[in-house]
Amino acid sequence: MKTLGLIGGMSWESTAVYYQRLNRLARQRLGGQHSAKLIVWSVDFAPIAAMQAAGDWAGATAVMIDAARRLEGAGADGLMICANTMHLMAPEVAAAVSTPIIHVAHATAAAVQTAGVRRPLLLATRFTMEKPFYRDCLRAGGVDAVVPEAADRDRLHAIIFDELVQGRFEPESRDAVIAMTRRAVARDDIDGVILGCTEFGLLVSTADMPVPAFDTTDIHARAGMAFALT
Ligand code: GLU
Repeated sequence: MKTLGLIGGMSWESTAVYYQRLNRLARQRLGGQHSAKLIVWSVDFAPIAAMQAAGDWAGATAVMIDAARRLEGAGADGLMICANTMHLMAPEVAAAVSTPIIHVAHATAAAVQTAGVRRPLLLATRFTMEKPFYRDCLRAGGVDAVVPEAADRDRLHAIIFDELVQGRFEPESRDAVIAMTRRAVARDDIDGVILGCTEFGLLVSTADMPVPAFDTTDIHARAGMAFALT
Protein backbone atom coordinates (compact mmCIF):
# COMPACT_ATOMS: atom_id res chain seq x y z
CA MET A 1 0.00 0.00 0.00
CA LYS A 2 1.24 3.50 -0.85
CA THR A 3 1.43 6.23 1.80
CA LEU A 4 -0.88 9.24 1.44
CA GLY A 5 0.15 12.68 2.65
CA LEU A 6 -2.83 14.77 3.76
CA ILE A 7 -2.72 18.56 3.94
CA GLY A 8 -5.40 18.96 6.60
CA GLY A 9 -6.82 21.38 9.11
CA MET A 10 -8.94 23.21 6.53
CA SER A 11 -10.86 22.60 8.61
CA TRP A 12 -9.91 19.81 11.01
CA GLU A 13 -13.63 18.95 11.22
CA SER A 14 -13.40 17.48 7.72
CA THR A 15 -9.82 16.23 8.08
CA ALA A 16 -11.13 13.95 10.84
CA VAL A 17 -13.67 12.60 8.33
CA TYR A 18 -10.91 12.00 5.76
CA TYR A 19 -8.88 10.11 8.37
CA GLN A 20 -11.81 7.89 9.28
CA ARG A 21 -12.97 7.31 5.68
CA LEU A 22 -9.51 6.40 4.41
CA ASN A 23 -9.01 3.93 7.22
CA ARG A 24 -12.46 2.42 6.72
CA LEU A 25 -11.83 2.09 2.98
CA ALA A 26 -8.54 0.29 3.66
CA ARG A 27 -10.36 -2.11 5.98
CA GLN A 28 -13.15 -2.66 3.44
CA ARG A 29 -10.71 -3.33 0.62
CA LEU A 30 -8.10 -5.37 2.51
CA GLY A 31 -10.06 -6.68 5.49
CA GLY A 32 -9.01 -7.73 8.95
CA GLN A 33 -6.57 -5.47 10.72
CA HIS A 34 -5.62 -3.36 7.70
CA SER A 35 -5.65 0.42 7.91
CA ALA A 36 -4.49 3.31 5.74
CA LYS A 37 -0.87 4.49 5.64
CA LEU A 38 -1.23 8.23 6.24
CA ILE A 39 0.82 11.28 7.13
CA VAL A 40 -1.25 14.30 8.14
CA TRP A 41 0.10 17.84 8.15
CA SER A 42 -2.63 19.84 9.84
CA VAL A 43 -2.47 23.63 9.66
CA ASP A 44 -3.95 26.26 11.95
CA PHE A 45 -6.94 27.36 9.86
CA ALA A 46 -7.40 30.89 11.28
CA PRO A 47 -4.43 32.47 9.46
CA ILE A 48 -5.34 30.58 6.28
CA ALA A 49 -8.94 31.83 6.42
CA ALA A 50 -7.63 35.35 7.00
CA MET A 51 -5.41 35.08 3.90
CA GLN A 52 -8.35 33.78 1.85
CA ALA A 53 -10.57 36.63 3.03
CA ALA A 54 -7.84 39.20 2.29
CA GLY A 55 -7.17 37.73 -1.16
CA ASP A 56 -3.60 36.88 -0.14
CA TRP A 57 -3.49 33.83 -2.38
CA ALA A 58 0.30 34.06 -2.75
CA GLY A 59 0.63 33.71 1.04
CA ALA A 60 -1.81 30.79 1.11
CA THR A 61 0.05 29.15 -1.79
CA ALA A 62 3.33 29.40 0.15
CA VAL A 63 1.72 27.62 3.13
CA MET A 64 0.41 24.83 0.85
CA ILE A 65 3.78 24.38 -0.86
CA ASP A 66 5.52 24.23 2.52
CA ALA A 67 3.05 21.56 3.69
CA ALA A 68 3.44 19.54 0.48
CA ARG A 69 7.25 19.60 0.78
CA ARG A 70 7.09 18.46 4.40
CA LEU A 71 4.82 15.55 3.47
CA GLU A 72 7.01 14.62 0.52
CA GLY A 73 10.07 14.73 2.78
CA ALA A 74 8.29 12.52 5.31
CA GLY A 75 7.72 9.84 2.66
CA ALA A 76 4.28 10.46 1.13
CA ASP A 77 3.74 8.77 -2.24
CA GLY A 78 0.65 10.86 -3.08
CA LEU A 79 -0.69 14.15 -1.74
CA MET A 80 -4.25 15.14 -0.90
CA ILE A 81 -5.27 18.74 -0.24
CA CYS A 82 -8.22 18.15 2.10
CA ALA A 83 -10.27 21.16 0.98
CA ASN A 84 -11.87 22.15 -2.30
CA THR A 85 -10.97 25.85 -2.05
CA MET A 86 -7.27 25.22 -1.64
CA HIS A 87 -7.16 23.39 -4.97
CA LEU A 88 -7.00 26.93 -6.34
CA MET A 89 -3.23 26.63 -5.97
CA ALA A 90 -2.99 22.92 -6.87
CA PRO A 91 -1.01 23.73 -10.06
CA GLU A 92 1.62 25.70 -8.09
CA VAL A 93 1.83 22.98 -5.43
CA ALA A 94 2.16 20.28 -8.11
CA ALA A 95 4.99 22.23 -9.73
CA ALA A 96 6.85 22.52 -6.40
CA VAL A 97 6.99 18.78 -5.58
CA SER A 98 7.50 15.59 -7.53
CA THR A 99 4.84 13.66 -5.56
CA PRO A 100 1.52 13.43 -7.47
CA ILE A 101 -1.56 15.26 -6.19
CA ILE A 102 -4.86 13.39 -6.05
CA HIS A 103 -7.15 16.20 -7.21
CA VAL A 104 -10.62 16.53 -5.69
CA ALA A 105 -12.26 18.16 -8.73
CA HIS A 106 -10.87 15.59 -11.17
CA ALA A 107 -12.19 12.77 -8.98
CA THR A 108 -15.53 14.56 -8.61
CA ALA A 109 -15.91 15.12 -12.36
CA ALA A 110 -15.32 11.40 -12.92
CA ALA A 111 -17.97 10.48 -10.32
CA VAL A 112 -20.54 12.91 -11.79
CA GLN A 113 -19.93 11.59 -15.31
CA THR A 114 -20.18 7.98 -14.21
CA ALA A 115 -23.56 8.76 -12.59
CA GLY A 116 -24.83 10.23 -15.87
CA VAL A 117 -25.51 13.65 -14.33
CA ARG A 118 -25.10 16.40 -16.95
CA ARG A 119 -25.79 19.68 -15.14
CA PRO A 120 -24.88 19.67 -11.44
CA LEU A 121 -25.19 22.56 -9.00
CA LEU A 122 -21.92 23.41 -7.25
CA LEU A 123 -22.27 24.33 -3.56
CA ALA A 124 -19.04 25.57 -2.01
CA THR A 125 -17.20 28.57 -0.61
CA ARG A 126 -17.61 31.80 -2.56
CA PHE A 127 -14.02 31.29 -3.82
CA THR A 128 -14.74 27.85 -5.22
CA MET A 129 -18.07 28.91 -6.74
CA GLU A 130 -16.98 32.26 -8.18
CA LYS A 131 -13.36 31.80 -9.24
CA PRO A 132 -13.01 29.84 -12.48
CA PHE A 133 -10.47 27.24 -11.28
CA TYR A 134 -12.89 24.64 -9.91
CA ARG A 135 -15.51 24.79 -12.65
CA ASP A 136 -12.68 24.74 -15.22
CA CYS A 137 -11.37 21.51 -13.68
CA LEU A 138 -14.87 20.02 -13.75
CA ARG A 139 -15.30 21.14 -17.37
CA ALA A 140 -11.98 19.52 -18.30
CA GLY A 141 -13.52 16.35 -16.88
CA GLY A 142 -16.62 16.79 -19.07
CA VAL A 143 -18.90 18.32 -16.40
CA ASP A 144 -20.59 21.72 -16.78
CA ALA A 145 -21.52 22.91 -13.30
CA VAL A 146 -23.75 25.84 -12.39
CA VAL A 147 -23.61 27.88 -9.19
CA PRO A 148 -26.46 29.21 -7.03
CA GLU A 149 -27.64 32.82 -7.27
CA ALA A 150 -25.71 35.52 -5.38
CA ALA A 151 -27.80 35.54 -2.19
CA ASP A 152 -27.46 31.77 -1.87
CA ARG A 153 -23.70 31.97 -2.49
CA ASP A 154 -23.42 34.52 0.33
CA ARG A 155 -25.44 32.30 2.66
CA LEU A 156 -23.32 29.24 1.87
CA HIS A 157 -20.09 31.14 2.43
CA ALA A 158 -21.35 32.38 5.80
CA ILE A 159 -22.52 28.89 6.80
CA ILE A 160 -19.07 27.46 6.00
CA PHE A 161 -16.95 30.11 7.72
CA ASP A 162 -19.19 31.15 10.63
CA GLU A 163 -20.47 27.68 11.45
CA LEU A 164 -19.06 24.52 9.86
CA VAL A 165 -15.33 25.18 10.22
CA GLN A 166 -16.08 26.15 13.82
CA GLY A 167 -17.84 22.86 14.50
CA ARG A 168 -21.41 24.22 14.42
CA PHE A 169 -23.94 22.19 12.45
CA GLU A 170 -27.34 23.96 12.63
CA PRO A 171 -30.64 22.46 11.43
CA GLU A 172 -31.65 25.83 9.87
CA SER A 173 -28.48 25.83 7.79
CA ARG A 174 -29.10 22.27 6.65
CA ASP A 175 -32.66 23.28 5.64
CA ALA A 176 -31.29 26.35 3.81
CA VAL A 177 -28.89 24.20 1.77
CA ILE A 178 -31.68 21.80 0.83
CA ALA A 179 -34.05 24.69 -0.02
CA MET A 180 -31.53 26.43 -2.29
CA THR A 181 -30.90 23.15 -4.11
CA ARG A 182 -34.68 22.75 -4.63
CA ARG A 183 -34.86 26.28 -6.04
CA ALA A 184 -32.02 25.53 -8.45
CA VAL A 185 -33.75 22.34 -9.60
CA ALA A 186 -36.82 24.42 -10.47
CA ARG A 187 -34.97 27.43 -11.92
CA ASP A 188 -31.83 26.03 -13.56
CA ASP A 189 -32.92 22.50 -14.43
CA ILE A 190 -30.03 21.00 -12.49
CA ASP A 191 -29.97 17.21 -12.17
CA GLY A 192 -27.35 16.76 -9.45
CA VAL A 193 -25.57 18.64 -6.70
CA ILE A 194 -21.87 18.72 -5.83
CA LEU A 195 -21.22 19.18 -2.10
CA GLY A 196 -18.05 21.09 -2.93
CA CYS A 197 -16.97 21.92 0.59
CA THR A 198 -15.38 19.17 2.62
CA GLU A 199 -17.51 20.02 5.70
CA PHE A 200 -20.89 19.75 3.92
CA GLY A 201 -21.19 16.03 4.58
CA LEU A 202 -21.25 16.87 8.29
CA LEU A 203 -24.27 19.16 7.75
CA VAL A 204 -26.43 17.40 5.17
CA SER A 205 -26.91 13.84 4.16
CA THR A 206 -26.78 13.10 0.44
CA ALA A 207 -30.07 11.23 0.96
CA ASP A 208 -31.78 14.49 2.02
CA MET A 209 -31.01 16.20 -1.27
CA PRO A 210 -33.73 16.38 -3.98
CA VAL A 211 -31.29 15.26 -6.72
CA PRO A 212 -28.27 12.90 -6.71
CA ALA A 213 -25.61 14.45 -4.46
CA PHE A 214 -21.83 14.11 -4.74
CA ASP A 215 -19.96 14.43 -1.45
CA THR A 216 -16.48 15.59 -2.41
CA THR A 217 -14.93 14.36 0.86
CA ASP A 218 -16.18 10.86 0.20
CA ILE A 219 -15.22 10.94 -3.48
CA HIS A 220 -11.76 12.33 -2.68
CA ALA A 221 -11.13 9.72 0.02
CA ARG A 222 -12.12 6.95 -2.41
CA ALA A 223 -9.78 8.36 -5.06
CA GLY A 224 -7.00 8.52 -2.47
CA MET A 225 -7.47 4.89 -1.43
CA ALA A 226 -7.68 3.78 -5.08
CA PHE A 227 -4.30 5.50 -5.63
CA ALA A 228 -2.84 3.93 -2.48
CA LEU A 229 -3.87 0.45 -3.54
CA THR A 230 -2.59 0.51 -7.14
N1 GLU B 1 -13.15 22.86 3.65
C1 GLU B 1 -13.60 23.84 2.76
C2 GLU B 1 -13.49 23.47 1.31
O1 GLU B 1 -13.64 22.32 0.99
C3 GLU B 1 -13.59 25.27 3.11
C4 GLU B 1 -12.44 25.79 3.89
C5 GLU B 1 -11.48 26.53 3.01
O2 GLU B 1 -11.84 27.60 2.48
O3 GLU B 1 -10.37 26.04 2.79
O4 GLU B 1 -13.32 24.30 0.45
